Amino acid sequence: MKIAILKERRPDEPRVAATPESVKKFKGLGIDVAIESGAGEGASLPDQAYADQGAEIASDAAAAVSGADLVLKVRRPLPEELPNLPKSALLACILDPFRAGEELNALAEAGVGAFAMDLMPRITRAQSMDVLSSQANLAGYKAVIDAAATYGRAFPMMMTPAGRINPAQVLIMGAGVAGLQAIATAKRLGAVVHATDVRPAAKEQVQSLGGKFLAVEDEEFKQAETAGGYAKEMSAEYLKKQAALLAESIPKMDVVITTALIPGRPAPRLVSEEMLRSMKPGSVVVDLAVENGGNVALSQPGEVIDVGGVRILGHRNVPGRLAADASMLYANNLFNFVSLLFDKESKALKVDWDDEIVKGTLVTREGAVVHPALTPAEK
Ligand code: NAD
Repeated sequence: MKIAILKERRPDEPRVAATPESVKKFKGLGIDVAIESGAGEGASLPDQAYADQGAEIASDAAAAVSGADLVLKVRRPLPEELPNLPKSALLACILDPFRAGEELNALAEAGVGAFAMDLMPRITRAQSMDVLSSQANLAGYKAVIDAAATYGRAFPMMMTPAGRINPAQVLIMGAGVAGLQAIATAKRLGAVVHATDVRPAAKEQVQSLGGKFLAVEDEEFKQAETAGGYAKEMSAEYLKKQAALLAESIPKMDVVITTALIPGRPAPRLVSEEMLRSMKPGSVVVDLAVENGGNVALSQPGEVIDVGGVRILGHRNVPGRLAADASMLYANNLFNFVSLLFDKESKALKVDWDDEIVKGTLVTREGAVVHPALTPAEK
């Protein structure tokens, strides 16, 4: 069996789908690995480090995928990459299928069996393959570091002979994986941390990290968590009450970090332009949902915007800003996933198409889009 690792083609993507350590583990299973030359550069991983673990360094993508049974990537292939994919091969990557539009049909027509690592079911057995969590955790950390680097004041309280520095007041909106790591990171830096979410389970998690929980805790809030543990899309009435509550707190905040997402839907708008204008000059807002439509009015993907002295950070691909760690965790997620598809006896792929993890992630097969959440009847 052969695995091919391709260099990412998107300009904002420095991560790579394998590390020398994951190559070593694949080789240990008896799997051959070919990696396109330069694939690890963005994550500070030179070709030689992969070669030292037994990978074949391929001069281009076509050479890497030649004879491959499985192709591993970070992001969905661009249309111009599709001719490179062997028709019979499987592909695993972060597909972002709900925003793929026509590219999804093109991928199906290319004949590959594509798995979306970002559709990994949130079940205990799949935790070690959970790409959304491994990457969101880093994004939550990095959002606070980016905010602290932009903020013109310190985070912790400091008593000095020259005067007292007050601690930064930080508000985290959305206390899922990214939000909880943001709370922990801001606490470690000495800030006073407040957090909001619509899921009741988040309250205890926020408080256990030393955050102050802030939410409209009405009847709708009590029912806001789906069976899968995600937030429901809240009613316009709830969002209005939430906005009224936040409008009171936001002027007192120095840093706001938003992480709120609803699977398969645009991100909820939580911070209005009026709220931004109510903040003190020098305050910083980080919109981690900027690529999903944004939680913050005026935030722009890939840009830093200044609204009356309040800076709004809309960095794209925040996990990619920690490319070495993000690649390491992602490569481990992929190794664990591939182990599920691999038969140690025959040393070949042996996919159980009825497995919950396989069914939950398989998006295209034999020329068609097959995932129930993406087929036309249920779109
Ligand atoms: P997510 O990225 O989908 O959303 C981020 C957060 O935004 C969530 O906490 C959500 O409740 C919140 N949110 C949505 N709308 C909001 C609004 N209007 N106002 C404020 N907050 C809002 O979430 P996630 O980080 O992927 O986590 C989702 C759930 O999955 C959590 O319950 C988490 O504990 C759970 N989880 C389970 C596993 C597992 O069991 N394997 C792994 C990871 C996460």
